Amino acid sequence: MDQEKKQSQCNIHPGFNNNLLLFEENNIHSKICSVCAKKLTKKINKVIEHTEFLQADQNYIFSSFPPLEDEDIYDIIQNLQIKKDSSLQEIFIEKINNYFITLKKEINKKIDLLQNQVKSKLIKIEDFNQNQGNSFLDIYNEISSKFDIQKLYKEYSQDSDQRIKEIIQEKYQNIKSNTEKLQKYLSEYQVIINKINLKTPIEIQQKILDILDQIDFFEKPFTIEEIEFEKSKSYKSSQSLQIQRLQNKQIQINQTRDGSSVSYANFILDPNKKYIFRARLQTNSHSDSFLLVGIVQEQDKDSKQLYDGICYNERGNNMTIKKIVKGNNLFEGYKTNIDKEIEMRIHLAQKIIKVANYPNYENVAELENKELILQNAQYRLAVELYYSVHKIIITHLSTVDQFDQQM
Ligand SMILES: [Zn+2]
Repeated sequence: MDQEKKQSQCNIHPGFNNNLLLFEENNIHSKICSVCAKKLTKKINKVIEHTEFLQADQNYIFSSFPPLEDEDIYDIIQNLQIKKDSSLQEIFIEKINNYFITLKKEINKKIDLLQNQVKSKLIKIEDFNQNQGNSFLDIYNEISSKFDIQKLYKEYSQDSDQRIKEIIQEKYQNIKSNTEKLQKYLSEYQVIINKINLKTPIEIQQKILDILDQIDFFEKPFTIEEIEFEKSKSYKSSQSLQIQRLQNKQIQINQTRDGSSVSYANFILDPNKKYIFRARLQTNSHSDSFLLVGIVQEQDKDSKQLYDGICYNERGNNMTIKKIVKGNNLFEGYKTNIDKEIEMRIHLAQKIIKVANYPNYENVAELENKELILQNAQYRLAVELYYSVHKIIITHLSTVDQFDQQM
């Protein structure tokens, strides 16, 4: 059976085959001629030829079928289809190469622009316009009188000898002023030379190189094994802290003698990342459960107490993460032998800091005043404790794409 016979002719339009499918919502015709189709719809993309359907193989993507809410999807799938022969690795390599080519181009463009700007600025500064070498020589030639002496030698006569002696004697008489004259000129020259200060530009160069090091295309899983905790450099008794890595990779922090102490993580929190941080709090024989977990501003990390900032305190006072979101108060107050694990979730960009008991998440509290998280400040995880029998053990640290619904 050939194609012609397979298709019926239109009753209304003799000579026209019913070779189309119209699939507009509430206007579906499985066999329709082109004249009818044009009358029934203005949406040409809702019409497909039967032959297109019949020939569609395994890899064929229709440009508007099945109906989807987002029309771009057909194109996207089609493009992926074209690329399907290249491996994912090839696609990544291409993307990354393009990124670096553009980065280089943009950086070069920017540097060329800056260089030209500085050049034209330089031309406008009078001081830099003189030819320093010639001025030096002018002064030197003048005070050395070398041409006068030269002339006297050339026209050697009876009094030349006498005259040369006089000139040199004169040089000795003027030794102080001549020295000063050259020194004055040299120091003026130094002042001008020092107007070009490379210190800041070199610092900026280093910063740029450091930032480039941060380019990373793959989110690395972030684990407790990769971090360290450090002692606050000058806050009260912090230097007598003991920080040790346990066999299970967890980090135990305790005081060797009673005294206020702060310890903070060795990295600055990325405001755009979502962190999950867990710590075990142990009061042991001392009931004053002054055990704090929170975040400290970079500028305060070596000088301030944590309970002035954003923190959870097992004692229940001096804390800002206390607005109950679920259950009851998380803290147990003054009590010996507290041994509990808490989880803290941090997403600075969205001003989220929550804390819950782990692993049950029965009680959840969040930061009462979210404005305490400053947009342009840098923060680190930190803990504070006082008594030598108390312990804070950092048990877990990770970043996630999305926080789950537990709290
Ligand atoms: Zn028709």
